[in-house]
Amino acid sequence: MKKILVVLMAICMVITLCVTLTSCAHKCEFSTDWSKDATHHWHACIGEECVEVADKAEHVWDNACDTSCNTCGQTRTTEHVWNAGEITTKPTQAKDGVKTFTCTVCSETKTETVPFTGLTVDEWNDAFSSSSVENFTYNEASSTKGSGMTMDTEVTYKFTEDKAYVKMHMAGQTQEETVNDKLTANALRKQMVDSIRELAVFADYSYDAATKTYKAVRDIKIDSLDASTSDITLKFNDDNKLVELKYTVEFEMSGIDFTATSTVTLSDYGTTKI
Ligand SMILES: [Zn+2]
Ligand SMILES: [Zn+2]
Ligand SMILES: [Zn+2]
Repeated sequence: MKKILVVLMAICMVITLCVTLTSCAHKCEFSTDWSKDATHHWHACIGEECVEVADKAEHVWDNACDTSCNTCGQTRTTEHVWNAGEITTKPTQAKDGVKTFTCTVCSETKTETVPFTGLTVDEWNDAFSSSSVENFTYNEASSTKGSGMTMDTEVTYKFTEDKAYVKMHMAGQTQEETVNDKLTANALRKQMVDSIRELAVFADYSYDAATKTYKAVRDIKIDSLDASTSDITLKFNDDNKLVELKYTVEFEMSGIDFTATSTVTLSDYGTTKI
């Protein structure tokens, strides 16, 4: 009985072999090049009309953004998923800034130019805080015209920790004085800072990118005169410190119309020496 089984099995194997040999008349030889479609890649038999394939598998992408299969090089189109982006280089008056976006899927980055659009209210207030304008040089050159006359004046204040230096040039006369008393020097400093700050109310100003200045039209008070309307421009440096304040004011005194133009230059922050 056992012998008969073995013989039967042998016959079966021969028949199976014959069938196989009939269906594929050659030993498959596969191309070393990948064949591919949108989803898979494989090595195809190089035999004519043979449809046998080897190594068939899905494409291998690193992530949802990857555009090239790691195995066969099949390409596809994908879209990055950009985050909201962050300012990686802050724009200044002198130079554009940079905003960097990162893909939340693959961490790829792209950048965008960010133009300077003005100081924030905090930066503005910092620029005019007493601590920001502690030691500095203030120079104001003014020209007042009226009734066919022109009067030019120039005044310079230098402030240090405990001293003040004042130089005034008016009607051909020059006066110089050094204030060595700390209290007096501080009172003078406060007066100058307050007068600048009084002109610099954030809400009044708008940034003009073309001239890189802040502009405002507002009332300005000159000594004992009533307030007159004036054009004011302010300029800051890249450290957001005020470096220039210009104003043109028209006023009337003793029945005569005057136009006064002043340019205030602020410099030597923290380094002023007398
Ligand atoms: Zn084949
Ligand atoms: Zn592939
Ligand atoms: Zn991506």
